[in-house]
Amino acid sequence: MRWSVGVALLWLLMAGLCVEAAAAAPSARVSVLPAEADGDGIDAVRGARAWIDTGQTLRRRDGARWWRIDIAPAAASATATAHEDWIVSIREAYDARLVAYAPPDYRPRPLATFDPAVTQIGSRHRLSVVVPADALDAPVFIEMVTARHQPMGVAAQPLSAYLADDYGRVRFSSAVLSAQLLLVTVATIFAFALRRWMLFLFCVWVLSTAAYLVVMRGELVALAPWFPPEHAMRVAGIGISLGLLSAYAFLYVLLQVSRRFPRIARAYRIVLLSCGAMMAALAFVPITSVIPSLVNLLLLALGLTTLAIGLLRAVAGDREALYFLIGWGLVSVVAMMRAAYFMRHAGTPEWLEYLHPAADAFGALILVLATARAARYAEREMVSARHSAMTDPLTGLPNRAQLDIGVARMIEAAAVRESTLAVLFVDLDHFKQVNDRFGHDVGDACLQAMSGVLRRHVRATDLVARYGGEEFVLVLDGADAVSALRAAEALRVAVEADGRHVDGTLVGLTVSIGVATLETGDDVTRLFKRADAALYRAKHAGRNCVIVARPDIHHPRLEPA
Ligand code: GH3
Ligand code: MG
Ligand code: MG
Repeated sequence: MRWSVGVALLWLLMAGLCVEAAAAAPSARVSVLPAEADGDGIDAVRGARAWIDTGQTLRRRDGARWWRIDIAPAAASATATAHEDWIVSIREAYDARLVAYAPPDYRPRPLATFDPAVTQIGSRHRLSVVVPADALDAPVFIEMVTARHQPMGVAAQPLSAYLADDYGRVRFSSAVLSAQLLLVTVATIFAFALRRWMLFLFCVWVLSTAAYLVVMRGELVALAPWFPPEHAMRVAGIGISLGLLSAYAFLYVLLQVSRRFPRIARAYRIVLLSCGAMMAALAFVPITSVIPSLVNLLLLALGLTTLAIGLLRAVAGDREALYFLIGWGLVSVVAMMRAAYFMRHAGTPEWLEYLHPAADAFGALILVLATARAARYAEREMVSARHSAMTDPLTGLPNRAQLDIGVARMIEAAAVRESTLAVLFVDLDHFKQVNDRFGHDVGDACLQAMSGVLRRHVRATDLVARYGGEEFVLVLDGADAVSALRAAEALRVAVEADGRHVDGTLVGLTVSIGVATLETGDDVTRLFKRADAALYRAKHAGRNCVIVARPDIHHPRLEPA
């Protein structure tokens, strides 16, 4: 419930951002010169009249080469400060190569995000053109050399406002980048500490989104100026696809697809592998081939399948799936919004520029939490499984497995300390008859009552276990034959007294006890054999009695009397 409130608030915030973005008045108008009206050279273009208004975006269309940007007079007069230069900025230019012609001289100035030779005002998050304060009503012309089909948003701002915003954007991406690197560090520590190797797939995804941010926002130029600019987009594209592939492999494990949906799992793995193979091929085939589109299509199919599986699991009450939906759901929704804006050929709204990396980082955080939670549960299950493997379910006493380990340890410790130790084999007398007369339920209650009596007769350093059936074993630390006999006798009397009534039924329990003490050179088997033989003699002596085994290490197999 608390989660749904959080998610609802997040969605409200996003809706608010959309409304705010829609309300913002355009600060620049963009128009294009149709290809057929193409003037030759900037002077002809400046005189051209056939401009067609295209809103606020530039993009490759119909072979058009020339674009014109006018600062909106309303924006200029509303925010005009005394004699300040303005910046016309172009967003999401990525690997586009443009040439700007701005007043007053209209000399060509190349614009390119990834080219270190091109100087920029502020960061490389945007391409920027300076318009002098006294020429705000003069148009800026852009010659498009190469560009993708994706629209590039255009805006105009006074220089000081542009620089302030630019600084904010840089600080924001640095913060996201730091968060991502921190998450990768945490995930790597988890991967080693919890032996959850699938977390490395998660790390590949987070690193790929971080690298994408660094490349697409142009920081790569500062970080690796030697990197060939013409390959930047391709590497970022392959990197992000590889990251997505790793993310889907990670989610496959997180959502336990192979266990929960074995049939889908097969197809899922095949698609994952073929995507991987095609991406390996991408290094050798041209980017214009059909393979990138095919990879995108398969990744989309994987994305939708993963979301559907997560939804099904979450509805079925799976907590990991809920985490997945919150974290990965937001990542998917933001990615789909971006795709939708591109398809509409409208520039993506500015807030998406913040939301996109923030959603990636947020998704990563939630997925790390989900993994930590899954690991904690697995650990808890393991501890409880280990406990059940060592405990008798009826009486809650240690079982034979735990007895074997415990007694071996106690013998070793006694040998080191040169102290003694005694073993009591305790067997209920004629217990079969108890079952036959009163039923199995009363029999079980007797065994539980027995375990209570036994517990009361040992010290913290002693060991009591159910050896099997109606047989129990006590290991008394530091006890010699005399004190062991005394303890056994006290136990026998106590059972006789307490076992008269069990659960309100007159039962009359008694026990026979065989006692053996540790001899030099004894191991568990020899010690137990002597105690068992003593018990056998106690049964033959008429039951409800204690027999101490003869201390004879050379003939441990005692003959019954
Ligand atoms: P003795 O005095 O010679 O030891 O006779 P006994 O009847 O106690 O010995 P026997 O080994 O013939 O039978 C042991 C009985 O213990 C058989 C079985 O029904 C009963 N028993 C073993 N485990 C359980 C249990 O978990 N619950 C119940 N109710 N009975 C059990
Ligand atoms: Mg018995
Ligand atoms: Mg028995």
